[in-house]
Amino acid sequence: MPVLSRRGVIAGGAAALAAALAPRRAWGRTQYDVVVIGAGLAGLHAAHLLEQAGLAVRVIEAAQRIGGRLHTLDHLPGRPEAGGIQIGQNYRLLRAIAARLGVALDESPGAGVGAAGSPTALLHINGTSLAPEDWASAPANRLSGAERAVPPFALAGFYGRALPALASPADWQTAPAEADISYDEALRRAGASAEARRLIDANFNGNSLAGMSALSPARAVALRQAGPGPTLIVRGGSQRLPEAMARALRGEVRLGQKVRAIRADEAGAEVITDRGSIAARHVLCTIPFAALREVPIAAELPPELAGMIAALPYTRASFAYIAARRPFWREDGAPETIWSDHPLIGRIFVLGDDPPMLKLWTFGAGADALERMGEARVRAVLVPLIEAIRPAARGQITSIRLFSWQSNPLARGIYHHIGTGQAAELSAAIAWKGTRLHFAGEHLGPVSQGMEGALESAEAAALSILARA
Ligand SMILES: Cc1cc2nc3c(=O)[nH]c(=O)nc-3n(C[C@H](O)[C@H](O)[C@H](O)COP(=O)(O)OP(=O)(O)OC[C@H]3O[C@@H](n4cnc5c(N)ncnc54)[C@H](O)[C@@H]3O)c2cc1C
Repeated sequence: MPVLSRRGVIAGGAAALAAALAPRRAWGRTQYDVVVIGAGLAGLHAAHLLEQAGLAVRVIEAAQRIGGRLHTLDHLPGRPEAGGIQIGQNYRLLRAIAARLGVALDESPGAGVGAAGSPTALLHINGTSLAPEDWASAPANRLSGAERAVPPFALAGFYGRALPALASPADWQTAPAEADISYDEALRRAGASAEARRLIDANFNGNSLAGMSALSPARAVALRQAGPGPTLIVRGGSQRLPEAMARALRGEVRLGQKVRAIRADEAGAEVITDRGSIAARHVLCTIPFAALREVPIAAELPPELAGMIAALPYTRASFAYIAARRPFWREDGAPETIWSDHPLIGRIFVLGDDPPMLKLWTFGAGADALERMGEARVRAVLVPLIEAIRPAARGQITSIRLFSWQSNPLARGIYHHIGTGQAAELSAAIAWKGTRLHFAGEHLGPVSQGMEGALESAEAAALSILARA
């Protein structure tokens, strides 16, 4: 029985743990140079680079689908997205891959995708529905002083000065520890009232203002500034890109192979799946850390990496895809997007008029609540709520479908953010290079976040493997 280092990470179920601790097999049975875990952008790009260098690579994926957090819901009207959508002008790697594979990218106005705040919205705040032009003088407006003139969806921008200014997107890694305070505390120091902080908290890409480092939104702002201009989307749906990447690999991607445990030492590495174990000279793991927490790892890992696997926060989000008889949002002259502080509503974006489809986004506690309710109850609660906010919706909603990432054991959230006080630890985890066990994924992007971050991390991991191969 091998003795685990104190720094080894062990988590997950008893059966998987037993498998990880079982007597070591001979590494001599290695069949592959590299086993890549995960057929998302990071795993597929790394597999391509390693194949190009002549290595024998096997990609294994737990789901019965390629793409990970690029997930086009082809079975729903209008094929809405459940995962990533927007491609920035500065997504150099992604654009090169799409060009190489002949995958078309189209310019998108960004409306309806929900990743950025809309410039205008029908407001529903403190139980009252109102047009943005009525906000400043409305009794439902409980903001203070100059804030009162700012609509809730513009408050985060109004308090942009609260965020540490980063000259370039990677600078969060070298920011002083004093800058790594919570977003809530940074807003408070910038003068934001409790009501302003509550409204920002109601709809932002995180679970709570208190749990997110101010460096996280500061990094996102620096990235937007580094790549201004219209965003792009993948023609036919985001998932078409990873599908094309998988088709272009020499080796087959094995679907339906959930990794239950991983182990590695100086001599080699091994992944244990439901169907047996696969030995390799190297293992590259692209499982999101929030999901990796449930997979036992028997290997020497530095404390920063082990700490981030255990504690890096992932944003919880639930979506409701709302089909309508006709585009009723065109009939009342109000802005098409709804922006609410009601935790079950969050924001409702128009996906399209033909077919008429809306997408509701909630984060954090609201996302948890929506998910717990289940589809039937959500329908019973949401339909009257939406009809009260927007009377033109009366009798128009035909179906509601729910989607949550946090309950998916292969993701456990939509993407990471830097937790309060975690910047130095995450930065060290990104810089760490393994000997036999390597990590990649959007959470380890050295500069970018999202899709481009996943690809950057894949390049760094592939280079590190090739240096040791
Ligand atoms: C709702 C949402 C909106 C987003 N919006 C944007 C956006 O607009 N722009 C942007 O750039 N990015 C966006 N992103 C982020 C972007 O989608 C991700 O950064 C990127 O797709 C992550 O790629 P990855 O390869 O790191 O991880 P993943 O795509 O998650 O790949 C990891 C793979 O590992 C598999 N896996 C997990 N556990 C196991 C296991 N035990 N065994 C085997 N396989 C396993 C998973 O099934 C998955 O396929 C968004 C994401 C979401 C969810």
